[in-house]
Amino acid sequence: MTDSHVHLTMFDAKERKAVLRQAQEAGVTRLLVPATGAEDLEEVAHLPQELGEGVFVALGFHPHQASQLDSGWKKRLERLLSWPQVVAVGEIGLDFFYCHSPKEDQLKAFSWQLDLAQAWGLPVVLHQRQAWPDFLATLGSRQPLRGVAHSFTEGTAGVRAVQQFGLFVGISGMITFPKANNVREAAREAEATMLLVETDAPYLAPVPHRGKTNHPAWVRLVAEAVARERQMTLEELEAQTDENFAQLFLHPTPGP
Ligand SMILES: [Zn+2]
Repeated sequence: MTDSHVHLTMFDAKERKAVLRQAQEAGVTRLLVPATGAEDLEEVAHLPQELGEGVFVALGFHPHQASQLDSGWKKRLERLLSWPQVVAVGEIGLDFFYCHSPKEDQLKAFSWQLDLAQAWGLPVVLHQRQAWPDFLATLGSRQPLRGVAHSFTEGTAGVRAVQQFGLFVGISGMITFPKANNVREAAREAEATMLLVETDAPYLAPVPHRGKTNHPAWVRLVAEAVARERQMTLEELEAQTDENFAQLFLHPTPGP
């Protein structure tokens, strides 16, 4: 099984190996760890060497940290993209809910990183919250795209919109939250070949662990909920999402 979005570097350095081992014991053989910006970019880049096989990384500046993406960090980011196991640019996007960085900075950082990913032939890991029109407009001018809209919450119409751009749909543990009909709709609507499952750990722990520190081992609970919505077996869902992950992230990229 694959956890296609887990912030392993947000666990204590001493804890990481145990968290990974626990996930592996639960059948999780591949994990994708996205960076969020200046504070963890180098740390995430080193993670495959630290933790070994099955750990892949995405490097980029999250919208919360968009203001910090200056020319120095742009150079560092570009340099790190050639490191081993770097399979995507991420996580990048727009978050107008928190607006930790001003909108203008977010739009600039998002556009620059989308262009960077296209120049490198890398897929993108996308974050979006309360910025849907700007998100679609920014993506729409850069089709076709490769990547995933992670922890997707935009329902049926949203799935159709991002899939038209060539993007996969990432379903998180929110699918188990009683009020999250939008997420369950998305899980049903997504094309079988464009669907991924993720934990977003340490955030968004699924029911019955809601409110606790989330763990990549619990991606099984997400997969079970998605399988239920799609009326598939867990085994079928696992095989499909493992294959989708490989299709999107594990094909060799040509470089700039
Ligand atoms: Zn994330």
